[in-house]
Amino acid sequence: MSSDDLMRQAGARWCEEHNRWECTKRSKRRPGDHCHASAIRGTAVCRNHGGQSTELLKAKGEAITAWSALSGQAVVSHTEAVLGMLQMSWLRAHLYAGLLERQFTDAQDQDADGGPAGLGGGDPELGPGAGLVGHTHGAVKDIGIYVTGEAARALTVLEGQERDRVVRYAKTAHDMGIAEAQVRIAEQTGQQLAEVIRRTADALLLAVVGLVTETAGREGTVGERLAAALDAAVRAAWPGWLSTIVPQQIAAVTAGGEA
Ligand SMILES: [Zn+2]
Ligand SMILES: [Zn+2]
Repeated sequence: MSSDDLMRQAGARWCEEHNRWECTKRSKRRPGDHCHASAIRGTAVCRNHGGQSTELLKAKGEAITAWSALSGQAVVSHTEAVLGMLQMSWLRAHLYAGLLERQFTDAQDQDADGGPAGLGGGDPELGPGAGLVGHTHGAVKDIGIYVTGEAARALTVLEGQERDRVVRYAKTAHDMGIAEAQVRIAEQTGQQLAEVIRRTADALLLAVVGLVTETAGREGTVGERLAAALDAAVRAAWPGWLSTIVPQQIAAVTAGGEA
């Protein structure tokens, strides 16, 4: 949705004189005339006529702007937009945190076994990830994968940004007087969707590795060696794919509204 569409649907008034979207209220000083102040993005009012703090008005406008970009749909109420964005941010935050957390666990396991150092590999910059929210493992615990430092760092950044958004949208919801129960439902739904994506990815990895092993294993010794090599290659590449593909696909669905 274009910026003009957004402002039109938010109900702002296009001013031919100043060539911009303006507040719809009337001027107190010039009876009969419009206010003529710029409307806050995503709203139909200026900062003087909003009847709320500028900070809250901006946050509401930001939520509806992001939600419109995400859904491509007409502007909904600010309440729906804030809850929708809150849910989406929870989904992303949990997904990234879950991916990161498992990378750490796997890296530690690898190190303990004397295997290749994953991201535990003496990289102090990854410290913040260690304090990520507790997250139960999916159906598969010993999937044996890890990401390299660079992908993990990118994930750490994404996760941090998403966490900031969660805090911002939750505060906006609270300041708007949206019921706590509705906020909790948005959080739970976001978490559940993230868990579904993670479990699906885990299950697909096991299915692919299983098929490769079974198919190549029928071809004798050479096949078995090939199967082992493919098994290792797929497991090694998997977290990197997840770390890039999942954020890419989420960004594609959310139409760059937040990226
Ligand atoms: Zn004007
Ligand atoms: Zn105004």
